[in-house]
Amino acid sequence: MAPLRHALSRMMRSLVMKFTVLCAIVLVAATLVMTGIGYVSKSRDNRDTALAHAGLMSQLLAVNIAEQTSLRDARRLTVSLSAFSERDDVSGTYVADVTRNVLVATDGAQFAPGERTTDALVHGALGSVDMRVETVGEIIRVAHPVMHLGRLAGVVVVDVPIAAVSRPASEIFQRQIFVGLIALVIFLPLVAFVVRAALGPIHKLTEAARLASSRKLDMRIDVRTGDELEVLANAFNRMFARLDASMKRIHRLAYVDMVTELPNRERFRKEVEQVTRRAEESGTAGAVLFLDLDRFKRVNDSLGLGEGDRLLEAVARRLRETARGWDLSRGEEGAEPSLVARLGGDEFTVLLPTLRDPADAARVARHIIDAVRRPFEISGHRVFLGVSVGVAVFPRDGADPETLLRHADLAMAAAKRTGGNAFEFFESSMNKTAFERLVLEGELREAVRDDQLVVFYQPKISIKDGSIAGVEALVRWNHPTAGLLSPGTFIQAAEECGLIGEIGDWVMRRACTEMAELNKRGMTLPVAVNVSAVQFEDEGFADAVIETLRETGLPASMLELELTESVAMRQPERVLEQIEPLRARGVGFAIDDFGTGHSSLSYLTRMPFDVFKIDQSFVRDMSRDPHARIVVETILAMAKALKLETVAEGVETSEQLAFLREQGATLAQGYLFARPMPLNDLVRYADSGNAEARAAIA
Ligand code: C2E
Ligand code: MG
Ligand code: MG
Repeated sequence: MAPLRHALSRMMRSLVMKFTVLCAIVLVAATLVMTGIGYVSKSRDNRDTALAHAGLMSQLLAVNIAEQTSLRDARRLTVSLSAFSERDDVSGTYVADVTRNVLVATDGAQFAPGERTTDALVHGALGSVDMRVETVGEIIRVAHPVMHLGRLAGVVVVDVPIAAVSRPASEIFQRQIFVGLIALVIFLPLVAFVVRAALGPIHKLTEAARLASSRKLDMRIDVRTGDELEVLANAFNRMFARLDASMKRIHRLAYVDMVTELPNRERFRKEVEQVTRRAEESGTAGAVLFLDLDRFKRVNDSLGLGEGDRLLEAVARRLRETARGWDLSRGEEGAEPSLVARLGGDEFTVLLPTLRDPADAARVARHIIDAVRRPFEISGHRVFLGVSVGVAVFPRDGADPETLLRHADLAMAAAKRTGGNAFEFFESSMNKTAFERLVLEGELREAVRDDQLVVFYQPKISIKDGSIAGVEALVRWNHPTAGLLSPGTFIQAAEECGLIGEIGDWVMRRACTEMAELNKRGMTLPVAVNVSAVQFEDEGFADAVIETLRETGLPASMLELELTESVAMRQPERVLEQIEPLRARGVGFAIDDFGTGHSSLSYLTRMPFDVFKIDQSFVRDMSRDPHARIVVETILAMAKALKLETVAEGVETSEQLAFLREQGATLAQGYLFARPMPLNDLVRYADSGNAEARAAIA
């Protein structure tokens, strides 16, 4: 019932109904006006006809009764009058003589015979000897003088009912109303039909506007009426097209990254929100990968901004291809595809909506690393990038976009710490470390500013005779509350917050200055300085070292730089570029922590390094782990064949020393001889002829 009432009320309010009712009102009003006008003019016509008729009749009667009236012959007059009064068009008549005495009268006449008429009309007719007429209601009354032989003989009065002479106007009125009604019945449906047809385009326009309001803008209204409606429809079409374009533009600005055309952070967030919700309902798992390009900033600075954008586009393309390749390789029909997005800067994300196994996420991460590692060709330059990937698996590591992104970001930072081109899964311990790191970074900035850093030196002892072959500079942080901190607690943080460059430069300058000073005093101790990956990758590294040597006056041959195996192996061509100018001046190079990077030994030996420092983990484990022993033996044998120097790190016991000596190690460094110590202690140690070391050797 309600829908019917609703439809009815809609129909009543529709334009078609309104136009039809309007037409009906106009039709009825027109009929009424026409009928009214007809009625008035018909009434007037009727009266005129009746007047003429009455005039003729009274004239006729006056002629007929002229003689009888002049003779006052009542009998013959009565006969004449009664024949006359039988007519329908006469309602009463009487004849009076010149003295206004009524001679004869019919029924319905105003006066009876013998009476004296007081009628003003009779007065007038007698006085003027002419016909006099008056209208009394629906009756025309005529007084006509009766002349006999040229003399006034009397007067005859005739009453003529207008209705008797012509059809009454009311009859016409009724007929016209009837005709009007018929017209209404016939024409209204016709009007409704025509109006409906004429308003068809408006219906289309209304429908289009309704659709547009519900955001469907890619449509065209087809109206070809050639009138204003067509103009309106075309205006609508233009408006929709513009709105559609604007909406699309707004959508693009809001959800698409303009450089790479990838979805942006907001879009990614929304997508993760939906996917995690669905995953929760269906009990499936997925992953969010957080990607950060390694070395992008440096490349970007050297390429210039436009080329940097081009590089990001190329990276985006490779990521998309990798994700697509992964989707296809799964071969699951109708499976939700993965999504690559750019968060900004050199940060990208990948959403894997469904995972059969978290190990699949590791596989994707590996594909991504391989894809980004391949050199990029940017306006004639070969550009090498790397990428660190953090993986957060949902629902395990979080169920909302914010948590997942934060956790994947933390995992990415962990991957970056391992030297880049690596991936890590999120672990809950990362949350805590992140906070600690934040505090640490703040304090570290203060340390650099407030001169809280100091350099310790650890001697490298010749296994042959126990003499000091050189020292390694090792930084320490004299923390105001925590005391002396070893680099293990802060070097990583310094690398991440970009302070490592400053710290490294400071250590280098301090070590060179102090060793140059000792050198002048006759104590010649070559110094080895550790160089971090970030420092080494800086374009101006070699120049900075040369500048430091010049300023401090330390001979280049007294400086050795220690690079870890992963730094040395990451980009062999670039390593050579950095090393060559320094080697040409006599600076030595050592590979630190050798054996931990799992790189090809034969490959490494072909690099221009002078010293291999065997990592202390092998030295420590030698006695109980045959594998560690074999590693040490191999390194030493190879070094011997190539005539390279070796430093065994972390030598703590005389057994270790004995084994190393047996295998032909040349130098050793460790607590067995000396711990890292401040400069003063080092001077004293050297002055005393390093008796402990000699004792240990002997
Ligand atoms: P590294 O270059 O391998 O330095 C040797 C580390 O082994 C030093 O730790 C040293 O104190 C320690 N060590 C020496 N002999 C023994 C021993 O017999 N037993 C044991 N258990 N350890 C021994 P330290 O000073 O804590 O430095 C740790 C690492 O921090 C260094 O490893 C180096 O990679 C880094 N580092 C230190 N100073 C700097 C610096 O100025 N710049 C950079 N970039 N890294 C530095
Ligand atoms: Mg070192
Ligand atoms: Mg080492």
